[in-house]
Amino acid sequence: MHIPKFAVFYDFHTMPACPDVGAGFDCDAAAEQLKRCGADFTIFAARCNLGMAYYDTKTGIRHPALKYDLFGRFLEACHKRGIAVSAYMNVGLSQEEGLRHRDWLTVSPEGEIYRQPCNVHEYRTMCYNSPYGDHVLAMIDELLEYPVDGFFFDCLTPHPCIGAECIREMRERKMNPSEFAWFSQKRMVDRIGRKIKDSRRDLLLYYNCVRPTDQLEWSTYLEYECLPTGGWGYESLQLNARHLRTFGKPMLNMTGRFHETWGDFGGIRTRASLLYDCITGLANTLPPNIGDHFHPRGDLNHAVYDLIADVYGEVRRLMPWADGAKAVAEVAMIQPPDTPDNSLEAVPSIYSAQGWGRILCELKCQFDVLLPHQDFTKYKVIVLADRVRFDETLKERIRSYLAQGGKIISSGWSGLDGSGTHFVLPDEWGAEYLGESPHDPAYFRLAEKTEGIPDMPVTLYEKGISMRAAGAEILAEIVAPYYNRQFDGEHYYSYLPPDRKDGCAALTLAGQVAHFSHPVGFGYYKHAQVPVRELVGNVLKRFLPEPLLEVRGLPSFGRTAVTRQGNRHMIWLTAFVPERRGEKIDMIEEGCEVSGLEIVLRLNGQKVSRVYTAPDCTELSFTEVDGGYKILLPSMKGYAVVVAE
Ligand SMILES: [Zn+2]
Repeated sequence: MHIPKFAVFYDFHTMPACPDVGAGFDCDAAAEQLKRCGADFTIFAARCNLGMAYYDTKTGIRHPALKYDLFGRFLEACHKRGIAVSAYMNVGLSQEEGLRHRDWLTVSPEGEIYRQPCNVHEYRTMCYNSPYGDHVLAMIDELLEYPVDGFFFDCLTPHPCIGAECIREMRERKMNPSEFAWFSQKRMVDRIGRKIKDSRRDLLLYYNCVRPTDQLEWSTYLEYECLPTGGWGYESLQLNARHLRTFGKPMLNMTGRFHETWGDFGGIRTRASLLYDCITGLANTLPPNIGDHFHPRGDLNHAVYDLIADVYGEVRRLMPWADGAKAVAEVAMIQPPDTPDNSLEAVPSIYSAQGWGRILCELKCQFDVLLPHQDFTKYKVIVLADRVRFDETLKERIRSYLAQGGKIISSGWSGLDGSGTHFVLPDEWGAEYLGESPHDPAYFRLAEKTEGIPDMPVTLYEKGISMRAAGAEILAEIVAPYYNRQFDGEHYYSYLPPDRKDGCAALTLAGQVAHFSHPVGFGYYKHAQVPVRELVGNVLKRFLPEPLLEVRGLPSFGRTAVTRQGNRHMIWLTAFVPERRGEKIDMIEEGCEVSGLEIVLRLNGQKVSRVYTAPDCTELSFTEVDGGYKILLPSMKGYAVVVAE
């Protein structure tokens, strides 16, 4: 199987009205453009979001304006230049098949076959349990006749459907529409996976919009799609790369060249923002994949490929320190699993993880992101992000983790049983759960004055739980407001001063377990309060007094990562600020200059004989200190890679 290092992803979705699809397409020139960028892998549409096919198909619907086998020719041109090609197939959406077969569309729980609003291309979603499922498999059969190097299946989203096939089966299985949608998604993933496996070809295979854990059996690599200015934001990659890298598969970091989002033909990113994505990916061991949208007629966009060639040229120089590197982490943030009943929109589980991720990034902590079922025994500290409830299995795993000396930072409803009535390990937590917090808002005040945290009642904007210390030390207490935010018929209460302590704890510490009563991650995601982050930093310092990495002089917006190749360690530092400029656009236009950085790297006693920056190999001075090495980095602009070997 080809392992991609520098990829280019082509969107190629074409309205049926387009009169000249492929008319001016010079496949050799397009493939040559890829080669000029140093790309070794590309993904090109065999079948697009509209359900249009671009290859010789008997089963699917070829674009009416296309006169030849565009996919086949482009595949051949790429292979001639040693570039591997995956076939892009949209599975979840199809305008064309949906137009011809209304019975293949999903029926939403509201009874609609066109999902609202209709002014986006996602309004016709396909039911995998209708004959459409077989139709997709038949198209895959056709594509397996081509010498493709892999498949990228897109938009395999679990859309709830109450169509005839679905409603009957979900009743038999005693599932609700959301549960059944996930079940159907997984079954479609399995059907496709089995077909590819039966072909006995060693192919790249990835399903987009399917959780990694639901595709591990079949997918041969994992990819994270993130257009930072297209709705994902610049922090999303930081979090998800740290999750993806825990599965031990080849990976890609898919970003895009667009100023806004996919399909923005005339939008182009700045060099610095694209570089930020590529460096952040590599720092987390994900090679880059830059997305473009090919012009349907075949017009070559030289400006885009000049940009990609330029960025890839710079990134390539780092490859000797990135090839085969593994991430190094000592903390695991455990994110709550999303469930069919806790859809991303309905419950802020994902936001809890994003907020916690941001806090740990700003604290320069080296962490992985796990789901509760993944192995966390190797980490010194685990963070249970806001809503990690315990079942019997998790309870026993947590108990033995504590017995081996592990430390836990927990927040909100984490540590409670499934129905939310009590802490599952009350002795270890040293706290008693009293119920949902009655305050809106609550305030916290530290039990003792602490440097860096204001000595005042600090607002907790998001609701949490009420808890009383039962053996634990109280590090922060809850201060109740005079009255809650409310309308009493005469007044809306918007001025809510703190009144007095209510006897509840905001933060407890019981030996190896610290618990915050409020959802620290969700609160930080929404409100980004520095005192809350500093409080987390204090707890982390107690649990990890000598962390793997400390960086003094790197601003709060700086990001860090540590990787290793055998005994050689790389410290990746970035200093880019996404500045909000447009209504929804954050802009990175240049890297920031930072000077006078002091780095402390601790490698469990491993000796270091040389420290330098990559790729220019400038030697750095370093001295041995507190169980590690202090390294001086005089200055950096945008990013730096410090190598210790
Ligand atoms: Zn259905």
